[in-house]
Amino acid sequence: MDLAAAPPALLTRRHLHVAGDWVDPSSRDTIPVENPATGSIVGEVPAGTPADVDRAVAAARAAFPGWAATAPAERAAHLDRLHAALAARADEIARTVATELGTPLKLATRVQAGLPLTVLRTMVDLAARPAAEHTVGNSLVVREPVGVVGAITPWNYPLHQVVAKVAPALAAGCTVVLKPSELTPLTAYLLFDAITDAGLPPGVVNLVPGTGAVVGEALAAHPDVDLVSFTGSTATGRRIAHLAAERIARVSLELGGKSANVVLADADLPTAVKVGVGNALLNSGQTCTAWTRMLVHRDRYAEALDLVAAAVAGYRLGDPFDPATRLGPLASAAQAQRVRDHVDRALADGARLVAGGPDAPLPPQGHFVAPTVFADVHPDSALAQEEVFGPVLAVIPFADTDEAVAIANNSRYGLAGAVWSADEEAALAVARRMRTGQVDVNGGAFNPLAPFGGYKQSGLGRELGGYGVEEFTEVKAIQR
Ligand code: NAD
Repeated sequence: MDLAAAPPALLTRRHLHVAGDWVDPSSRDTIPVENPATGSIVGEVPAGTPADVDRAVAAARAAFPGWAATAPAERAAHLDRLHAALAARADEIARTVATELGTPLKLATRVQAGLPLTVLRTMVDLAARPAAEHTVGNSLVVREPVGVVGAITPWNYPLHQVVAKVAPALAAGCTVVLKPSELTPLTAYLLFDAITDAGLPPGVVNLVPGTGAVVGEALAAHPDVDLVSFTGSTATGRRIAHLAAERIARVSLELGGKSANVVLADADLPTAVKVGVGNALLNSGQTCTAWTRMLVHRDRYAEALDLVAAAVAGYRLGDPFDPATRLGPLASAAQAQRVRDHVDRALADGARLVAGGPDAPLPPQGHFVAPTVFADVHPDSALAQEEVFGPVLAVIPFADTDEAVAIANNSRYGLAGAVWSADEEAALAVARRMRTGQVDVNGGAFNPLAPFGGYKQSGLGRELGGYGVEEFTEVKAIQR
C-alpha cells in the first residue's frame, strides 16, 4: 500500500491548546469526526465549553502586550518558522483534509495544503514591514493591533480559512483564539502541532474546538474579544454581528456567495466553459467564491450547453484517495441533503436538467451528489438566488451586456465573479459594473495579495494581503 495515499493515523485529539500548552478540556464530552466518503467515524475531539473559552481568551489577553510590542522582524521570523513547520506537514494536511472533508487527495495537496502555505508566505513578508504611519496636517496617524481576535472558521477549506485569519492577525500584532469547524477540526490540530514546533510565544494563538452553538457563541459574545473574524454562512454571520454589537466589538465577516460567470458573445467559449465548470465544481461546489451562475450570450447558448455537459461528464465521483477521482462527497449527510433539496426545488421550478440530477449514478456509500447542471434557470428563481454549496451549476442566457450585468447584480450576495471576452477592455468594463468583491477577467489567476471579501450580504471587511493585515488594526491620530 502506498502510505502517502493512505488516510493519516492520528485522528483523535484529547486537548485544547491554551497558553502554549496542550491542556485538558473542562468537560469530557467529545465531538465525533466523520469520513464523509464512507460515513464512518474516524476520530473525535473535545467539545469545548464557555469555561474553556474564558481560559483561552485570558491567555490571549495576557500574551497581547508582549506580542504587540514584538519587533516586526521578530514576528516575521516566528511566522517564517511556522511556515517551515507547516510545510513539513503538507502531506499529512492533505491526507487529513481528504479524510475529514473528502476533498480528492490531488486537489487537497494543491489547494487545501498548498494555498495556506502560499498565504502564510505572503504574511511573513508583510509582518516584516513596520506598520504604516503617515502625517495629516499636524496629526501623526498610526496603525496599532486591534487586540484579542476570536477566529471562527468553516469546514470547506479547513486550513486556508484558518490561516487567512491567524496569519494576518499575528502579522498585525494581535493574539488569537481559534474555534475551527466541528466538522473538520483535525486539520486545525495539525496547525497547532506546527505552532508548537515553531515555538510561538505562549498564548499568542490558542485553540478551543467545539460547536458553534457553545464555543462559537461564547467566543463571539466574550467581553474580552476585541474583534471577531468569522467565515461561514450568512445566517451565522448575522448572529455573530448581533452578539458583537452588544459590546460594539469589531467584526469581519466572510460569508456566502452566488457568483456570476459572464460569458460575452466573443469569448473563447471552450476555455470559458472549461474553467467555469471547474470553478463551479471545485471542492464539490463547497467553495464560497464558486461561479454557480453561468451567464451566456444567447448567440452562443446552445453551443455552451453542449460544452458544459461534456465537461461535467469528465468529473468522476469516488474515493478521495483514488487518483482517478475528480469529485469527492459533500462534507456531511446534512449538506448532501440540502443540496438534493435545491436540485428538487429547481426541477419543480421548471429549470431544464442538462447533466446529473437525482437519478444520476452514485458511489454506493458516502454523502455524494452527482454534478448537476440546469439550463434556462430564471434569474429570480431559488436556484439563481440561493447559495447551494454543492456541485450544482445554473446556466442563464442573456441578450446583451446590460442584461448580463443586471442578472449578475440581481443577487443579495457579491463575493466573486468572472467575465470572458476577446476584447479585454469590454470585459474590464463589465467587471467594473459588477457589484462584487473580486472579478476574474479571462481566467485571471488567483492573487494571494489581492483583497478578498464581499459586497452586500457576502460580508464585511477584507482578508489577504495588506488589506487583510489592516483588518486587524485600529487607527490612532496623534496631534502635535
Ligand atoms: P456555518 O455558518 O454553519 O459555520 C461556520 C462556523 O461558525 C463553524 O465553526 C460553526 O461552528 C460556527 N457557528 C455556527 N453557529 C454559530 C453561532 N451561533 N455562533 C458562533 N459560531 C457559530 O457555515 P459552514 O456550514 O461551516 O460553512 C459553509 C458556509 O460558509 C457557506 O455559506 C459558505 O459560503 C460560507 N463560506 C464563506 C467563505 C468566505 O470567505 N466568504 C468561505 C468559506 C465558506
